[in-house]
Amino acid sequence: MTREREPIKGKTRSGNGTTDQVYCSFCGRSAQEVNSMIAGPKAFICDRCIKTSYEILRKEVSSIQQAERIPEQPFQPRLASPKAIMNSLDQYVVGQETAKKSLAVAVYNHYKRIDSQEIKHEHDEVVIEKSNILLIGPTGTGKTLLAQTLANLLEVPFSIVDATSLTEAGYVGDDVETILARLLHAADFNLERAERGIIYVDEIDKIARKSANVSITRDVSGEGVQQALLKILEGAVVGVPPKGGRKHPEQQLININTKNILFICGGAFEGLDKLIAKRVSKSSMGFGAKVKTTQIGYDPEILKLVTQDDLHEYGLIPEFIGRLPVISTLDMLDEKALRNILVEPKNAITKQYKKLFEMDGVELEFAEEALDKVVKIAIDRGTGARALRSVLENVMIDIMFEIPSMKNTHKCRITADTIEQKALPEYFSGEGKKKKSA
Ligand code: ADP
Repeated sequence: MTREREPIKGKTRSGNGTTDQVYCSFCGRSAQEVNSMIAGPKAFICDRCIKTSYEILRKEVSSIQQAERIPEQPFQPRLASPKAIMNSLDQYVVGQETAKKSLAVAVYNHYKRIDSQEIKHEHDEVVIEKSNILLIGPTGTGKTLLAQTLANLLEVPFSIVDATSLTEAGYVGDDVETILARLLHAADFNLERAERGIIYVDEIDKIARKSANVSITRDVSGEGVQQALLKILEGAVVGVPPKGGRKHPEQQLININTKNILFICGGAFEGLDKLIAKRVSKSSMGFGAKVKTTQIGYDPEILKLVTQDDLHEYGLIPEFIGRLPVISTLDMLDEKALRNILVEPKNAITKQYKKLFEMDGVELEFAEEALDKVVKIAIDRGTGARALRSVLENVMIDIMFEIPSMKNTHKCRITADTIEQKALPEYFSGEGKKKKSA
């Protein structure tokens, strides 16, 4: 049927010049009874019939669409086996095999637990508890990196909070609601995604109350913060101001359920090794009584013997420890590990610099001795791998300032002297000749 621009109204002319009455081919109404009539090659349809047909079709189409509509999939993190998680972590985190393994298993179980809630049967008596994780290890050994990498691999929202910035409700500073607001923000305000995210709580050891054997004066605020954290670690519905803070009292609260949020807490727990050594030496005469004193007073071997009682002794309240069932310790990074960190991980810092130089058409090379020097300086600083970046950055800044405006320079080689004395690196021209200076 073709549509006429001008709907025919009233009468139309027959071939012989007489006027004939027009009728709707569907309802039989005459043109005078309706508002408009549309003509096809061999039929007419009135506006009323068009409307009725439209309604019939609309209902039919919408019921087909409803039947065919794929139900919206609930947000699912990308869950791989613990082995696959560990393999992926290996690409970014050097060493720390024990921590990687326990994290891989804990995270796998965590998301399996969430699935089990969804398919829970009525008479199921086994309830899988949440496996929040406690990472114990010195600064710069990869605690934050592990948590962050896990979140990236699983494609879940991630946020970091410093436990020392937390306060008990009502005090000035961040409160637990702010932590959740940050996660919600990281999830682009998608509540469902936020409720399956990962929160890394750094410096958790700093909210331990003073160890009972060190002092009898209790650090009340530390314990208060532990209590406040306990609430969200356990799983609670918390009204969260989306903009965070108390500066916007008018904003509507969003209720976040924390029962499926994975908390990874990390801390250096300085002095914990000595506490453990004392316990061990008491319980088994002679064994492990001597704690090795390393540069930063940390003995990773003895730390592996940590128990929940030791953490209580250190100043964490039992309920809080109870909510961190997976405890893992990190190794000190030795020279070899630090050297690997410089070059091996997928986004190793030297690879990042090389890429930046490549964008300026310059090949960047680090002499082996230059890398050794970086490691040596980093070890002296005693802040683990954290120092690697700052040592390198310190020399690379000047070079990166010059490179883009240097003509006919195709290669730049960082030497040990560049690292140690900020001497100029070796520059090479297009013909591969060493240039005298920049
Ligand atoms: P922590 O949380 O234990 O204090 P971080 O994870 O913040 O330490 O480490 C600081 C930086 O050092 C990281 O961003 C990363 O570049 C590097 N780093 C630390 N440990 C490792 C490691 N085991 N493997 C690779 N890089 C590491």
